[in-house]
Amino acid sequence: MATDTHPLSLPPDLIRLGAAPAGKEAAIREAAQLLIAAGCIDPAYADSMIRRESVANTFLGHGVAIPHGMVDDRNLVRRNGIAILQVPDGVVWNDGQTARLVVAIAAQSDAHIAILRRLTRLMQDEARLNALFTTGDPADLVAALSDESAAPATPASEAGDLAESFEWVVDYPTGLHARPAAAWVETARAASGRVRVRHGDEAVDGKTLVALLQLGLRPGDRITVSADGSDAHAVLNRLRATITGLSAREKADAAAAARKAKAVVQGWTPPTTAGREMPVVAGVGASPGLAIGPVHVMPKADLTVPDRPAPLLEGGNRLHEALNLTRQQLKALADDTARRLGPAEAGIFAAQAELLNDTDVITLACQLMVEGHGPGWSWNEAVERSAAKLAANPNPVLAGRAADLRDVGRRVLTRIDPDLRGGSIRDLPDTPCILVADDLSPSDTAALDMGRVIGLATAQGGPTSHTAILARTLGLPAMVAGGGALTELANGTTAILDGQSGRLYLEPTDADLAAAHGWIEEQRVKKAQQEERRGLPARTRDGHTVEIGANVNRPDQVPVALSQGAEGVGLMRTEFLFLERGDAPSEEEQYQTYRAMLEALDGRPLIVRALDIGGDKQVPHLQLPHEENPFLGVRGARLLLRHPELLEPQLRALYRAAKGAKPDALLIMFPMITTLREIETLRAVCDRIRAELDAPAVPLGIMVEVPAAAIQADVLARHVDFFSIGTNDLTQYALAVDRQHPELAAEADSLHPSVLRLIRMTVEGAEKHGRWVGVCGGIAGDPFGAALLAGLGVRELSMTPRDIPGVKDRLRDSDLAGLRALAQRALDCESSDEVRALEGEAS
Ligand code: PEP
Ligand code: MG
Repeated sequence: MATDTHPLSLPPDLIRLGAAPAGKEAAIREAAQLLIAAGCIDPAYADSMIRRESVANTFLGHGVAIPHGMVDDRNLVRRNGIAILQVPDGVVWNDGQTARLVVAIAAQSDAHIAILRRLTRLMQDEARLNALFTTGDPADLVAALSDESAAPATPASEAGDLAESFEWVVDYPTGLHARPAAAWVETARAASGRVRVRHGDEAVDGKTLVALLQLGLRPGDRITVSADGSDAHAVLNRLRATITGLSAREKADAAAAARKAKAVVQGWTPPTTAGREMPVVAGVGASPGLAIGPVHVMPKADLTVPDRPAPLLEGGNRLHEALNLTRQQLKALADDTARRLGPAEAGIFAAQAELLNDTDVITLACQLMVEGHGPGWSWNEAVERSAAKLAANPNPVLAGRAADLRDVGRRVLTRIDPDLRGGSIRDLPDTPCILVADDLSPSDTAALDMGRVIGLATAQGGPTSHTAILARTLGLPAMVAGGGALTELANGTTAILDGQSGRLYLEPTDADLAAAHGWIEEQRVKKAQQEERRGLPARTRDGHTVEIGANVNRPDQVPVALSQGAEGVGLMRTEFLFLERGDAPSEEEQYQTYRAMLEALDGRPLIVRALDIGGDKQVPHLQLPHEENPFLGVRGARLLLRHPELLEPQLRALYRAAKGAKPDALLIMFPMITTLREIETLRAVCDRIRAELDAPAVPLGIMVEVPAAAIQADVLARHVDFFSIGTNDLTQYALAVDRQHPELAAEADSLHPSVLRLIRMTVEGAEKHGRWVGVCGGIAGDPFGAALLAGLGVRELSMTPRDIPGVKDRLRDSDLAGLRALAQRALDCESSDEVRALEGEAS
């Protein structure tokens, strides 16, 4: 969420030139008086400003001070405003610090970086600043401070409850961790007044993620959530809905994690040799599996960030830019992770993005810059101080969030100073190793080269850390919390890592190694048998075959998809080519990517979806106009038709790729089609480009994601070669549920009978013209969903690669007649619960 940047006007009555206050307190009171007279603050706020001076230094540097009130007294602010007191002869602020411009701030919201940037910009222009100390023209001050403004730093902890409140007993099985806390903060931030969360004597600002996490809430803790301001009542209702609405999901996630933990394979038992036990470093199992190899100890993560002071304006801009770019990067990472690994894993990066909105960290970084430190150093120091506070939390889940803050802080840091990018996981030996690290960030884990890392052992961290979750998803044996002894190991030491029991065995004898290899071999054979079945077609017992595709976006993801049993790519979301970088790829770059995809698929089908930008997939660098309702706005096909500069290079790249491909290996599909007219216009553009390039015909299909398209499927089918149903969007549009809405997640159920009926209508419409229908939305990867879809007449299912084996098994265990009967019963159900209750019944 962006910081508040409401512009502050600076009318002349908020400026007093030539003041000569007797001292600091008199200066503050005089400036406060201007704010009082202008109706910005309640008179009592002046005392609050004085009080603040005893707990924090508001001297910014270079003759500028920014007095402001205590966090708790923000209710005394009536409207945002700043007042300037010019003190040509200066007033002593602290020992050795003389203020000549006293900028008193009244603001209810947190937007530190904006005001600090504005002041720091001024400070780096010493001549201009000096002139302001003595100017006789208020217009000079207005001009110098004439852009956006913001509010004061608010790091202090808060006191009792606010005007209205409710109580709640934490029932999240793992306490309040970053993902739900991020949702709380998002809701709280919409409040115009303050929001406070209190547990016992400790109360914090409900709009600050780090502060909330520092409460260390555990299951069973009773908290009081309070708010003030004119909308307090409504805010609390919304907050209660957010907080309690997440309970079901938290419980479901915990239950799923427990199920997964039970389902893991048994650990390895080393052979017993009389008189000898292998030395072992014991930690906690984080991801099952056995790895044998040399350890590679990653140099300790605390990098030295050189303090390279920069002009304040430049430093402020670099920080601002780095924060924005990192937000974009995390958004893209979250979107991609959601599609590759699942929404829970994606939530890791969404919560990390929320950490970037922590105003305490940003304020501290700015203050350090004003003190004369470089932007990189200042940011790193601010992150470290906050992370250290988090790490000290007795709740291990919350202490683990320190790693997230450091991770995200590191991303920003390398944006500020790309020289700091080096080291870490990019300097691995060429031969496969067990990577040993003090701790590993989630983003480093997600980016591990699986060809070079066969296991992971960290000195710190916990089994619920995001790093551990990602390791499990990647299938990488891992142990955590091995302690400092781990990082003392010599590089190259041969070891056996058991990620099930969380043990790293050292100095294995030949017999130990042979036993471990034998165990791995057994596991390999088991897995190979499974893989063999994955390779078999999804053919029902009575011989009906459903094509199985994978949803992948990059050529390097294709081999994994094929090894999972994919028979092609049913959905390549090309917007990720745009989202993962800061600019648009050229036609040539796109062509190279499509070629590489086709080559990786070696003749298997590739369905490329033309850019689906808009809705939840915003590409900031395209600078498209802001929309109030992006899901109902210019997205998908509507956007393509309005932006030939995006559509045409993509189509040219695709038709060029088709020229070298096997006939019909490449298929093009258009997203978010609503009307026949859109299809006709897009087809005409395709025909023109194909003729210009003398390229072969390519099957053209559309995504059925809008109910209108499903209802009119019989009309549209005449004009396209295939349909692929995007059930994620079809569900949100059919049920009027925002697919990203955290509270409504359980209601956005693609198995709702009305969604199933739309799918059935699509299949019937397509059959009238002999067209085939696929599904590439999330429900295709759910074995029960896949069974229903096959029963409804869907011919192709495309999904996240790791879902393929389960779906294939389910279909191979069924017969078509049973699936059809199941689908018919589902169509007749009254609710999605009733549909789900059919699971497990005859297929
Ligand atoms: C869908 O909407 O189901 C779909 C596959 O498209 P996306 O998730 O990319 O919007
Ligand atoms: Mg979609």
